[in-house]
Amino acid sequence: MRNFAVVGSGPAGFYTAEALAKAYGENARIDILDRYPVPYGLIRFGVAPDHQSLKAVSKRYDKVAESAGVDFIGNVTVGADISIAELLGLYDAVILATGAPHDRKLGILGEDLPGVVGSAEFVGWYNGHPDFADLDPPLDGTHAAVIGNGNVALDCARILSKTRHEFEASDIVGHALEALDQAAIRTVTILGRRGPHQIAMTPKELGELGHLEASSPVVDIADFPPVEADEALEPGQRKSITILREFAATPPDAAKPKRMVFDFFAKPLRIEGDGKADRIVVERTELDEKGAARGTGETYEVPASLVITAIGYSSSPIPDVPFEGGKFVNEQGRISDRLYAVGWARRGPTGTIGTNRPDGYEVAEQIAAAMPPGTDRDRPGAEGLKQLLQSRGIMPTDYDDWRKIEETEVANARPGSPREKFVRPHEWLSVLGR
Ligand code: NAP
Repeated sequence: MRNFAVVGSGPAGFYTAEALAKAYGENARIDILDRYPVPYGLIRFGVAPDHQSLKAVSKRYDKVAESAGVDFIGNVTVGADISIAELLGLYDAVILATGAPHDRKLGILGEDLPGVVGSAEFVGWYNGHPDFADLDPPLDGTHAAVIGNGNVALDCARILSKTRHEFEASDIVGHALEALDQAAIRTVTILGRRGPHQIAMTPKELGELGHLEASSPVVDIADFPPVEADEALEPGQRKSITILREFAATPPDAAKPKRMVFDFFAKPLRIEGDGKADRIVVERTELDEKGAARGTGETYEVPASLVITAIGYSSSPIPDVPFEGGKFVNEQGRISDRLYAVGWARRGPTGTIGTNRPDGYEVAEQIAAAMPPGTDRDRPGAEGLKQLLQSRGIMPTDYDDWRKIEETEVANARPGSPREKFVRPHEWLSVLGR
């Protein structure tokens, strides 16, 4: 029997567990550890609450969690409650699937002013992440700005622009729904340091902006190269640019009170305000020979009392695991003997949910090659882990505990919503009678 610990229960963790279960069958026990009693990581805390179809992938993860030989062990923080060396003593291999939960910093003046929040914080706030339940982003001004031209920037801008009615079938948490419903924001400016051809937004997500109830996209055709240049783009990107060109050709809908303004070739220089964010000083850019943003010296101000930076994420370091550039140092997923990384903790924060599948399968193959199914080592696995945690006063939770929490969240749902998430760890534990 082999024992494997997958640290992190987001997409990368579940695909890896699925791959290990397939490779080893009855010859392995796989424990998926999480710091919280609630699984799914990015699916629960990152994917936008109005994108329920993307969240449906958790049904597949449920099947993995319910399969023989796989267990979910929640309420355990690796690196704090138990060290990597201890885990390696208990398990044949440890696979870090801890994602990339922290915001990268812009590194400009004013970034620490109240009113400037990272997308991980803002997304965590509306998605019920306990670390950000008290974020209380300022929504009382008329202007907000989102820095970055990726899908996370789009998520943040869209959430700021939707009406209460548009959140009906979503699982946005109650505190965010109420605050957004009262928000005064009328203009959300999306700042991209390069041009339309360089966006990292995808067509489906961009297309949604054309159908918002109360907000119209505003795009300036002067920012585009001649239309013939679109032919050189790969098909997905060409589709995105076509959507942006359609927005540029359509006057904003006068019946809609809100605007989502795409400001391209706009590099934030500093954020200013009297004790809190009030405006971003931006430098107009152009593309250099290598396609990077080069400042032109022309500056202007973008008003914003809420500034969301959506410029990418980094992973959390874990004591004694080599870490560089926002992720674990690894070669093809291998960090060191019997220690691996998958997903964003391995590659950095790029790609879709599905990108994590081949990633997890590749690492599972490597493990199966290094310790072929049928070869045994009697490491203690879950039993040893539970004993050690108990000796430290830590009570792990299991998959049945999660189902109880989930049932209560579903029972508490607003009409039309799939669930009302608990956002504080003590609420999760009180459902379990602890
Ligand atoms: P991303 O796709 O890497 O986009 C980051 C953006 O930030 C880029 O536009 C980048 O511009 C910009 N940026 C970086 N540093 C900057 C700086 N110093 N100043 C100004 N702008 C800066 O990252 P993401 O949006 O966080 O998304 C992460 C991953 O999750 C992506 O793969 C994304 O597609 C995926 N995702 C998917 C969905 C969905 O499918 N619905 C939703 C959310 C996220 P440059 O290009 O100029 O560097």
